[in-house]
Amino acid sequence: MIYLDYQATTPVAPEVADAMRPWAEHKFANPHSPSRWGREAAAAVEVARGDVERAIELEGGRIAFTGSATEALNWALKGTIERAPKGRNRIITVATEHAAVLDSCEWLAGRGVDLTVLPVGEDGLLDLDDLDRELDERVLLVAVMLVNNEIGVIQPVCEIARVVHDAGALMLCDAVQGLGRVPLPEGPDLLAISAHKIHGPKGIGALWMREGEEPEPFVHGGAQELGLRSGTLSPALCVGFGAAAKLSRQRETRDYDHVQHLWSCAVEALGPDWIINGSTEHRHRGNLSIRRDRVDAARLLADLREIAFSLGAACASGSGRPSHVLKAIGLSYPEARSSIRLGFGRYTSEDEIAEACSRIAEAADAQEPSFA
Ligand code: PLP
Repeated sequence: MIYLDYQATTPVAPEVADAMRPWAEHKFANPHSPSRWGREAAAAVEVARGDVERAIELEGGRIAFTGSATEALNWALKGTIERAPKGRNRIITVATEHAAVLDSCEWLAGRGVDLTVLPVGEDGLLDLDDLDRELDERVLLVAVMLVNNEIGVIQPVCEIARVVHDAGALMLCDAVQGLGRVPLPEGPDLLAISAHKIHGPKGIGALWMREGEEPEPFVHGGAQELGLRSGTLSPALCVGFGAAAKLSRQRETRDYDHVQHLWSCAVEALGPDWIINGSTEHRHRGNLSIRRDRVDAARLLADLREIAFSLGAACASGSGRPSHVLKAIGLSYPEARSSIRLGFGRYTSEDEIAEACSRIAEAADAQEPSFA
């Protein structure tokens, strides 16, 4: 199989698996218990916390581990509304956000929160003037992602945070697809990340919180994590996240250069018939979202089962629903149906990308006459 679905998840790095092994096998103590073994596990969790915080490289805050980035985003949105000052009851977000943000915002809107979902241009970028026009003294929180999971477009998060702060509001950034791939911008007050997108394990994410801007607790119980989030932490998952974060810092330039090279190989092997979805300039190049006229992308996927790629977000792919992101950048229904997403990175070889792209181009050529 050639794996080209790096936005859905990334292969676990061998160094990460090695670091996790003792904690998955015999170091089973509860990191919240006072025994010697418990304290050893707690110390390992703190080392991992430091490694993740260093990879984020933001000053003036700390992370809380969560069960996923989805949990972190739910917590950030719902827990910030919970502690909102009187009169600030508005949230602004963007039409191309991940479902974890959009669905949480809709849920809050159903409970009386005033929600504005801003459009994006054909390039997938938010227009800062649109945002500026909407900002007023009622806005509590603005949620904008860094790198889009479906089309790879990078939003100008630093500039967005500046105008948001000028209006006295807070900024939440979903940096799940950004961490380890592009530098994380200064500015957000809350930032969500996930281990399995940086060659770490599934089942663990984190919320970075600026000091003083911690949301109200969302998961209640033993308050094990910083007194803010309940549930026994898994040392194995925390250690894996820490190892993945450390590795992504060490390999930052190498991984970045490799991805740039793979992008060029992919574009060359695909040939001139494909159109790139979203901005070609402001984007992470390990995400190649493309379309080709009159191609049935679902049929491509079925014809090329030994290549793992996707039609859009992994969570919406099986639903048959047209992607909300492709719709938001103005694609027609047939254009969205002709779109595929190739995601590649650290462990993708040049040969793999060239072979997969040639086979995709051939399969598209073969089906062209039959699809109207
Ligand atoms: N945000 C973005 C942009 C994502 O791509 C994903 C995962 O697909 C998430 C949030 C959710 O992350 P997790 O799988 O850790 O819940």
